[in-house]
Amino acid sequence: MIPLIDLKKEYEELKKQIEAAIKGVLESGSFILGEKGKELEKAIANLIGTSYAIGVGNGTDALLLSLEALGIGPGDEIITTPYSFFATAEVIARVGATPVFVDIDPETYNINPDLIEEKISKNTRAIIVVHLFGQAAEMKPIMDIANSYRLQVIEDACQAMGAAYQGKPVGSYGEIACFSFFPSKNLGAYGDGGMVVTNDEALYEKISALRNHGSYKKYVHTCIGLNSRLDEIQAAILQVKMEKLPQWNQKRREIAARYSKNLANLVHTPIIAEGREHIFHQYCIETEFRDELAEFLYQQGIATAIYYPIPLHLQQAFCHLGYRTGDFPAAEQTAKRILALPIYPMLAESQQERVITSIQQYLGGKNETT
Ligand SMILES: *Cc1c(COP(=O)(O)O)cnc(C)c1O
Repeated sequence: MIPLIDLKKEYEELKKQIEAAIKGVLESGSFILGEKGKELEKAIANLIGTSYAIGVGNGTDALLLSLEALGIGPGDEIITTPYSFFATAEVIARVGATPVFVDIDPETYNINPDLIEEKISKNTRAIIVVHLFGQAAEMKPIMDIANSYRLQVIEDACQAMGAAYQGKPVGSYGEIACFSFFPSKNLGAYGDGGMVVTNDEALYEKISALRNHGSYKKYVHTCIGLNSRLDEIQAAILQVKMEKLPQWNQKRREIAARYSKNLANLVHTPIIAEGREHIFHQYCIETEFRDELAEFLYQQGIATAIYYPIPLHLQQAFCHLGYRTGDFPAAEQTAKRILALPIYPMLAESQQERVITSIQQYLGGKNETT
């Protein structure tokens, strides 16, 4: 079986360093909010080019704490994409605010900047931009709109560690940006983890307190926070993996290039938009034969996945918002046609070839009409 992602292979490659890192933490006796976490925060802030980084429990909490730190709550509207992992919009509802969806650009799968302005109301406070599948959203027009309407921008960069837009890393554009270290992300821990980055000192202080029971000083609680910290073992593991990140992202790009070169005449292959450094957290094709192709590949021992089968505006959890099928045609069409192929740095050339020839075998005889 060729899996979508093979974390065991990655572990094999780094076994020695990772086990030494874990052992170091075990021997240090410091497990929460210690040196390893601080070092990782520094390294991530350095990589993204922000003044501050704050380790948190996971990517969802990174988003949640960002909204809370910006004081967003009931009555506020937050503009975001209907085409993302559920957490992006979930956190908006979780703080009592209202997600306002804006359709995607069908070429990049990211929020369409041309459609944002018509959704801005007097209650709009912020935009959560997602850099889906490892490709930056169109930050220039988005930041222009945000600046002219005085909206705050939160970057959901959970799928895009190391990606860039016009030469600058994603995560360095908004007031705040959020990363996830969920094991399958392109920089993944061996458990949950997340990171918030910002240039704003006040936001840094606020989020640092919120993740730790609203406490700036031990046993002195200034506001209502929660327990959401990145632990030392995960931080130590991530430090080891971070050194590999540029090389691993490059590997992903090479695999994507090989897929695209061989499949472009059979399916819609991903577009790399102008000025983007795509890191291919996912490699997604589109075809009208999606479901039957997925079934065929499964029988050939090739795993695939659908990111995402149901756009957020059609999720039952958001039915109270009153959206209907047809509201966001680009997101809805994409959800029907998209299919993610196996992609991870250790995917062997022979495996890539098997994926390619299997797709050629199945679709070669068919007539793709769209
Ligand atoms: C993974 C992901 C999240 C949530 O991160 P967790 O660490 O799983 O909580 C949020 N947004 C996007 C776009 C993601 O891919």
